[in-house]
Amino acid sequence: MNTHGAYISEAESLRFADKDGIESLIQQWFRSDSLGLTFPGVLEDLFETDTGRRRANRLYLRGTAALLFYLVFLLADYYMVPDIFRSALVVRFGIVLPLSIVAILYLSRNPSPFKREVATVFIFLIAVLSLIYLFFISRHQYASSYHLGLILILVFANQVTRLRFYYALALSFLTLAAYCIFLLLHPLIPGGIKIHNTLFLGATAVMSLISNYSLEKEIRINYLLALQEKIKILDLSDRNKLLHEISRIDPLTGIPNRRHLEIYLDTLQQSSSLNRLAIILIDLDFFKKYNDYYGHQQGDNCLQKVVSGIKQELRNGADLFARYGGEEFIVVLPDLGIHEARSVALRLCERTEKLAMPHEAAPAPGLVTISCGVASAERPFSAGFKDLVRRADQAMYRAKSEGRNRVME
Ligand code: GH3
Ligand code: MG
Ligand code: MG
Repeated sequence: MNTHGAYISEAESLRFADKDGIESLIQQWFRSDSLGLTFPGVLEDLFETDTGRRRANRLYLRGTAALLFYLVFLLADYYMVPDIFRSALVVRFGIVLPLSIVAILYLSRNPSPFKREVATVFIFLIAVLSLIYLFFISRHQYASSYHLGLILILVFANQVTRLRFYYALALSFLTLAAYCIFLLLHPLIPGGIKIHNTLFLGATAVMSLISNYSLEKEIRINYLLALQEKIKILDLSDRNKLLHEISRIDPLTGIPNRRHLEIYLDTLQQSSSLNRLAIILIDLDFFKKYNDYYGHQQGDNCLQKVVSGIKQELRNGADLFARYGGEEFIVVLPDLGIHEARSVALRLCERTEKLAMPHEAAPAPGLVTISCGVASAERPFSAGFKDLVRRADQAMYRAKSEGRNRVME
């Protein structure tokens, strides 16, 4: 996976974030074209959440590698500066090794960004101080090779481990300062060499810092570009999901619409475990008159109340209750026969009446009622589900002509 992809997959936190706000912070950072590396506001937190754990891991692994390199150099101490070999052994294995192990173990626990970077600086800094100390106590002619060790440490810290820029800056500054103090105190090194060495270490620090800075800037720019891409993808999928839901759910009642019903019946048709299927078609009685009398808004309220009443009478999950169109609804009852479906339909009629919504405009003024038609079919459903719905519809019209507020099959 490329770096870009890795950032995208880890931008999980984005799901819960205010995407528009983040987009404007991204624009703001790009527009400011500042030298600063820190992102504004929550963007920095997001960057940390998405990349922090991986970074702690990397620091942990590279810190361990640096420590191993450092210990191997004991061999050089043995051949180069035999006068201080014992001290080198104590310093490298007795002091630097245990302190670094503590810091490395700490890194493996994914500490906060500040503590993470400080722990890494600490590892490199004790290595720096140990070399300066050995350099100071050795009177051997080759002791000046420790100077190369300092250069190696700065390059490793700033380039290989890629400390965050400000921490790399701090480490470089402290290294240079410690080295200058050492040179001032050293009685034997000639002045020209002192100047040469300081300039050499200074140049290494500056060059490795310049490259560290551009690398971090690039990482951050890549992160933001990947984040923008991620926001676009999330936006699209959110919108698609919404559209999908809207197109299958009736906005007035919140139950599935006819489109959903058709898709659902198609899937049922393919189900091998389905043996029976019953359908109830429901139609509100004298609803045109209700609308004319109470107004369209009240008509809408009435539909919503009838729907929520009916919903409570159905098996959650097993039955499909959908708006068939206008003031007509449909209930699909998998694995129910005609008798059971009939008793469900009777319950729905009773339930609607019990809502006790007055219908003064009905020919015989009373309450809002429904008429139901039921039909059922058994495997192999040779006539198809469309025919089943048609039969339920015919039964419902019979319920109308028989006087309404009843169930017919
Ligand atoms: P019947 O008892 O024979 O079913 O008579 P009806 O008046 O209910 O039947 P008809 O088909 O003549 O009228 C249905 C009415 O339902 C027409 C329309 O005003 C109303 N209607 C359909 N959809 C909605 C809706 O979403 N909101 C409201 N308020 N009314 C609706
Ligand atoms: Mg109707
Ligand atoms: Mg009607």
